[in-house]
Amino acid sequence: MTMPPVKYQKGDTVMGRWPGSSLYYEVKVLDFDVKSKLYTVIYKDGTELELKEQDIRSLSGFQTRSRSRSRSQSPGRRRSRSRSPARTTRRSSSRTAAAVAAAAITDSAPSSRKDIKLKDTLEVRLSPLNIEAKADTEPEKNQGRYNLRRRKDDGEGKPEVQEEEVKVAAPAPAATPSTPLDFGGKIGAYFWLLFLPAWVLFVILQGNLEDPSLANFPPPLPPLEAFWDPQALVFVILWILFQVLLYVLPVGKLSEGMPLRSGERLKYRTNGFFAIAVSALAVAAAVHQGVDLTYVHSRFLQLATATFIISVLLSIYLYIRSRYAAPEQLALGGNSGNVVYDFFKGHELNPRIKSFDLKFFCEMRPGLIGWCLINFAMALAEMKQQGLDAPSYSMILVNLFQLLYVVDGLWNEEAILTTMDLMHDGFGFMLAFGDLVWVPFTYTLQAYYLVSHPNPLSLPAVAAILLLKFVGFYIFRKSNSEKNAFRRNPSDPKLSHLKTIPTATGKSLLVSGWWGVVRHPNYLGDLIMALAWSLPCGFSHLLPWYYMIYFVILLVHRDSRDMSECRRKYGSAWDEYCRTVRYRIIPRVY
Ligand code: NDP
Repeated sequence: MTMPPVKYQKGDTVMGRWPGSSLYYEVKVLDFDVKSKLYTVIYKDGTELELKEQDIRSLSGFQTRSRSRSRSQSPGRRRSRSRSPARTTRRSSSRTAAAVAAAAITDSAPSSRKDIKLKDTLEVRLSPLNIEAKADTEPEKNQGRYNLRRRKDDGEGKPEVQEEEVKVAAPAPAATPSTPLDFGGKIGAYFWLLFLPAWVLFVILQGNLEDPSLANFPPPLPPLEAFWDPQALVFVILWILFQVLLYVLPVGKLSEGMPLRSGERLKYRTNGFFAIAVSALAVAAAVHQGVDLTYVHSRFLQLATATFIISVLLSIYLYIRSRYAAPEQLALGGNSGNVVYDFFKGHELNPRIKSFDLKFFCEMRPGLIGWCLINFAMALAEMKQQGLDAPSYSMILVNLFQLLYVVDGLWNEEAILTTMDLMHDGFGFMLAFGDLVWVPFTYTLQAYYLVSHPNPLSLPAVAAILLLKFVGFYIFRKSNSEKNAFRRNPSDPKLSHLKTIPTATGKSLLVSGWWGVVRHPNYLGDLIMALAWSLPCGFSHLLPWYYMIYFVILLVHRDSRDMSECRRKYGSAWDEYCRTVRYRIIPRVY
């Protein structure tokens, strides 16, 4: 059998058509697959694609053709022709076609008015998907690497982009189900909707047992009326309203979020530290006035039920409003078309009532500050139940460690604006339930457990646990601050010693400093801290270790979600980062 002749050889520099457009870029041939008859080519920005032979031209042939066309056709006529978008298949590039097209086009300085027109045409046609590329380039506009704004006709330099005909393929609208489904997809969503509340119920019931060992699974279910206490609902509502009030007060900084796909940057009132300080004063005053906070311990189940009801109502509201939100206000996920999945995952990125940001508020306020309130109430309950004058060392450590975690989060509240939850995830049941129920009612499990399961600690043990906590905290804080500072101002002189990898979106990736040790140094610090939170509870039961176990699972899953997302965003630059920084969370282990 004779092999068909291969027109272009490995290493040849040719002109390759960008998928769905009539734009040709200089590319290098990497490979030819005989079976599919596709050439693998690499663009100058590192993007690899598979192209059909008809989408490739030799350099010499292209230049001759291009010259003769430009003599015979006016730009207006050239724009009027349309092309099929699906003539090539995409391979390793993780970016949208529009992103690459935009980056490649703007990477080269236009040499004539004609080039500016070409850029304008593309910008006008930017759909929500394209706009994502535009927004991604914002942070480094200052560095002049990728600039989607109209430039002056500088009349110099030969453009790398050769114009033949101007037509950009119609990109997928944001509403098109485009992202792979997380969390086990549609079946997974049903599972999580049932499992998560059931798990909260399980740990609350188990934590109250004298012997909360796995041998006592399942814990006896209380009668249905034991779940409901109208006073608990009022308590939760008042707490949320109090936090709303603190959030809307014109106190504290207004911080800018990361650029959205529309290019807009939302403003957030980052006064979380003020909120927790005022809350602490209010709680202290209430206790001083004789309010019995041990109520939180004795009505823990009822409080959780009331909060759960609120989170469900909120999620229903979020789901309904997401159906009416404009495409540019939607997250890329949560659009499967399946009601249950979309309700669970959330679709609207930043649902707001006027300037009140529901997601930011829920992420940072009632649950997070409520976590500290519950821990404090558990310390009071421990003293009452065990007849102590002061809380035990274990209880003090758990309270202090977690308080430090929350206070730090609120002090650095701005840093949440560059995290996955804020930047990428829609706001739905997953986050609403997580923020309002999961965090305050399961992260307090160690303190809840210690109320009826004392674990005396020696001073050396206290010292060792303290040391572990501070090591974890140091890694966590330093790495998060480093990334946050870099994302906010990539040319910050304080970060100039750090090495970076440029990506075709215009953003760079840190490849030294903390982000050169492992790919998620912040997760490493967080896990060390989680260990320090469980140790004060000893080893008699698995229950207080739940947070540690859960957190390993959460962060490993979160890491893999983030890896896929970054791979999609940064393509070959991300691969290069992964080759350079080989471990994900624990150096030399994972
Ligand atoms: P990260 O703060 O780690 O954010 C991940 C993003 O950072 C990526 O999507 C990417 O976004 C950017 N990034 C990744 N690598 C690099 C790099 N090398 N250089 C520059 N930017 C990079 O993730 P999370 O939002 O998951 O976590 C934030 C913190 O919250 C962590 O400390 C985590 O431990 C903690 N956390 C705590 C939880 C809890 O329940 N206690 C739950 C979840 C998280 P882009 O490039 O688009 O900027």
